[in-house]
Amino acid sequence: MNPEEFRRRGREAVDWVADYMERVEDFPVRSRVDPGETRSALPDEPPEDPESFGALLADLDETVLPGVTHWQSPNFFAYFPSNHSGPSILADLISSGLGVQGMLWSTSPACTELEMQVVEWLVGMLGLPDAFRFEHGGGGVIQHTASDASLCAIVAARERATGGEANERGAGAGGELVAYTSAQAHSSIEKGIKIAGIGRRNLRLVPVDDAFAMRPDALEEAIRDDLSAGRVPFFVTATVGTTSSLAVDPVAEVGSICREHDLWLHVDAAMAGTAALCPEHRGLHEGLELADSYVFNPHKWMLTNFDCSAFWVRDRRRLTGALSIDPEYLRNEASASGEVVDYRDWHVPLGRRFRALKLWFVIRHYGVEGLRRLVRRHVELARWLADRVGEDPRLELAAPVRLNLVCFRHVDGDEASRELLERLNASGELFLTHTELDGRYVLRLCVGQARTGRRHVEAAWERIARTAGELDAGRG
Ligand code: PLP
Repeated sequence: MNPEEFRRRGREAVDWVADYMERVEDFPVRSRVDPGETRSALPDEPPEDPESFGALLADLDETVLPGVTHWQSPNFFAYFPSNHSGPSILADLISSGLGVQGMLWSTSPACTELEMQVVEWLVGMLGLPDAFRFEHGGGGVIQHTASDASLCAIVAARERATGGEANERGAGAGGELVAYTSAQAHSSIEKGIKIAGIGRRNLRLVPVDDAFAMRPDALEEAIRDDLSAGRVPFFVTATVGTTSSLAVDPVAEVGSICREHDLWLHVDAAMAGTAALCPEHRGLHEGLELADSYVFNPHKWMLTNFDCSAFWVRDRRRLTGALSIDPEYLRNEASASGEVVDYRDWHVPLGRRFRALKLWFVIRHYGVEGLRRLVRRHVELARWLADRVGEDPRLELAAPVRLNLVCFRHVDGDEASRELLERLNASGELFLTHTELDGRYVLRLCVGQARTGRRHVEAAWERIARTAGELDAGRG
């Protein structure tokens, strides 16, 4: 494909995406295909001869779209959001066009320095501690996902606790390491603990309070038990905005326990972190000055296409010391000078795309105030919906309503809640998911899609109320 053809086909592809944006609301939100249906619509063998670009685009409509769940639909209220936006998509296209590998400063200085600058911007935008800034010995990096970032935090903490011995002699070096997080933490923490060789049995799931936040007294007790059994506590993850209910762990109290016992404190604010763009939500980050590392995902609620997870450490030498490699074939003068950041040492992969471009485009296109407006709109709509749920005698709120997530259930119990969710999703008009809180089945409705406005949330509520009514009638 020469540049001239690329220009022409590129316009067609951009038109296809723009058309998709215009019609995304018309599709059933959750895909309705059966397992194997998409695959069976594809040929068994790849084409020997070139096919036309037009045929490719046509197959997107016919074969791919039916198997797509429309995450960008304004009626998508499931999981947590995964926003895209025009400037972010276009920046990703440019990143692909440049096709650089930013593993070393010298393999594309702009890739590294633009990233350093946008993560510094984010420190100010979110009111994060200055300790995370490069000039204070910290620093930020864009990782694929929060899962990758948390794994890196665990590995850095493991090396700190073992004086680098785990890297040398294996994860068993330095005694039986123990990590802590709340019983409501995301599964990525358990995954990281397993990958880092700590062992799942050495991850303590600390009990939570009535609002599903970690209980510092229970954390303290668990640490003391492990110490008296001769084990080596080394790592705590606090969550700011848990996946099930957006509970916020008391970071300040957890942090002072970590300081007392010299444990690494990692803070996972995967989705909720974005809310700190608004000064009125900065309280979410209270105590963050005690954290050794912090992650949030612009690819969730900040109009930036997946993948883009922003991760900071207080002491970058701890991270790079744990992850650095230095083969002859990557040696170069700039790295040897010690004056540059080589991001290969900040995460698992060596190669890395020019992901900073999309953050740069998004922040400049919307301005910080534009991003704040998005958060405020979603928070206001979620509150409106929570009020409706609170007024309806057939439903009840299942957790304190924080930010943009409403957790609720049917008062008749799990079976009624499950049926309510199934009927709502089968309608195709909206998509919600569920969780379990206090051992009970709970519907989660998260308002976070870029295109979601008042009319979508009102329509969602109308559908929820109507379906709850139909359910009652059916049972009566
Ligand atoms: N942490 C929390 C609190 C989450 O809610 C999620 C995903 O929803 C993650 C981590 C994992 O995010 P990622 O897909 O970026 O690994």
